[in-house]
Amino acid sequence: MKVLKFGGTSVGSAHSLNHVKEIVAACPQQVIVVVSALGGVTNQLIEMTRMAQAHDSNYEAMLQQVKIRHHDLIGQMVPEQRQHECRQVIDTFIDEGLASFYSLLYANDELAPDFIDRLSDAIVCHGEIMSSAIVTAMIDDAVPHFSPNFIKTMDTVTQRVLDAETTERLIREEFEHRTERVHVAQGFIAADVETGEKTNLGRGGSDFTAALIAAALDAECLEIWTDVDGFMTADPRTDPTATVIPSMTYAEAQRMCDAGAKVIYPPTIAPVALKHIPVWVKNTFNPTAPGTVIEDD
Ligand code: ASP
Ligand code: MG
Repeated sequence: MKVLKFGGTSVGSAHSLNHVKEIVAACPQQVIVVVSALGGVTNQLIEMTRMAQAHDSNYEAMLQQVKIRHHDLIGQMVPEQRQHECRQVIDTFIDEGLASFYSLLYANDELAPDFIDRLSDAIVCHGEIMSSAIVTAMIDDAVPHFSPNFIKTMDTVTQRVLDAETTERLIREEFEHRTERVHVAQGFIAADVETGEKTNLGRGGSDFTAALIAAALDAECLEIWTDVDGFMTADPRTDPTATVIPSMTYAEAQRMCDAGAKVIYPPTIAPVALKHIPVWVKNTFNPTAPGTVIEDD
């Protein structure tokens, strides 16, 4: 079994989603596909929260753009017989969920800060919920999963952290007995272990979700599908001599992530390193390129 994580640009257009379909179809073994929101959508969800709070009604137009973008992808990617249902799912999340959350913020000046925080968390999880609905519907017989059911966070005095033990147990319960070939789950989104309210693993956290699933299930590998060919020796935008690093150790990858390499969300490395699971960083737009493998020496 492998875990394949596709980032925002990889699920952001019909062109990239066609690659995603081919990459998944080419895997002979069982795969768990973890998806980000369509590229840019998380930023838009946050921006609309800010606009609604500032009583800027232009958030409504932006919300319609988000809806149209999802509808367009359904039209291009989802088989005809599943399009209607998939559009309805998106419409419910936008017209009932998001629209009511934003109008609450728009109409009320005196919401408690804690309530606004919880509302913002409930809003931001919609990006992955909607992208995963499309990816599930576009792949025949893909089984949908809901990550807040098994990725759990808890609050400490100072911050929100992963409840690692509960999460590991719940991931096993969710997937271990399954025999279907393709499974789809949302990256990034989680739920509070006590209240069940939606939370998340932080910006860029979809990589971490995929690593937690791979580690809990002892996956044969984790593949992070992104829009670059792998870890590079330097920033290719400023250094034309930059080349892809074919392989690196977990410690080297961790050092590069901590130093700001945007390729992988830093907390991703530890869970897979502990289980000695190789991580491949691959380019969805150039799938035959070898990429970077991160593994033991
Ligand atoms: N969609 C989330 C973000 O933009 C999580 C992710 O893509 O990893 O931060
Ligand atoms: Mg990312």
